[in-house]
Amino acid sequence: MGDMRGLSRSQALAATTVVAAIFAPAIFAPAIFAPIAAAEEAGIFRIIELKGSSVKWGSPKMGTGAAITYAFATEPVVFSEARNCRAMEPMDALLASSGVGQALYEAETARAFDAWSAVADIEFRRVSDPDAADILIGAQARPVGRAFSNVAYARSAPGAVRPLEKSLICLNPQQPWKVGFDGNLEVYDLRYTLKHEIGHAIGLDHPDTTSQVMSYRYEERFTTLQAGDISGAVALYGNKQKLMVETQPPQTTGGIALSPAPEESRSPPTLALP
Ligand SMILES: [Zn+2]
Repeated sequence: MGDMRGLSRSQALAATTVVAAIFAPAIFAPAIFAPIAAAEEAGIFRIIELKGSSVKWGSPKMGTGAAITYAFATEPVVFSEARNCRAMEPMDALLASSGVGQALYEAETARAFDAWSAVADIEFRRVSDPDAADILIGAQARPVGRAFSNVAYARSAPGAVRPLEKSLICLNPQQPWKVGFDGNLEVYDLRYTLKHEIGHAIGLDHPDTTSQVMSYRYEERFTTLQAGDISGAVALYGNKQKLMVETQPPQTTGGIALSPAPEESRSPPTLALP
């Protein structure tokens, strides 16, 4: 591999949309940023920062949940202001050339979304209307690299956190794709790739480190979201609500009942922003 580079933040400042380029070829220089905050634990995750703002779905407040819709492109569509995924098409040709059935593709995509909703307070619901969907997934009409995403945020809401308005995820139909890991890193697994792109689509950037799903290098060493991925999602959307109410049973020591362990308090990162 070695052809993937991180998104350079300074290059992401185009107009209203930004890029979270993914698994990208050498279009972008390697990312070298000062850490946004200590909470971005040792570089294991990074929140997208655009013109001094983080971006997220739902309330523009870090650590708050969101309900997000997604759809598959059903016809060619152009987003003239997008930096990535500007022209998208349905996935039919990509799936046909890789021998992946539509139903399997849709199921793998759902599992990719499930991975994120399992760890943070975000819900994803598929809708049929590409225009109405928060996140639109399709094939690149002008194939480049492997996969990209593009995030567009509300222009009218300057602040430390801006609401996302539309995210795009596009895959290169001229590359081979597969379902599942087989050790061949030249052919990307759809679910893993989508999981990574969804991470961008909800506000996560590439961390400094490898070994996270959000790391820019495609790997087949783990199938689940890693600690940094989870911390990043929680920083943006908060803990999964179900997890919030879990407490440990009281423990007794020498006849003295101890209080239940307090819920883990995971403060969202304090962004060094004005
Ligand atoms: Zn990426």
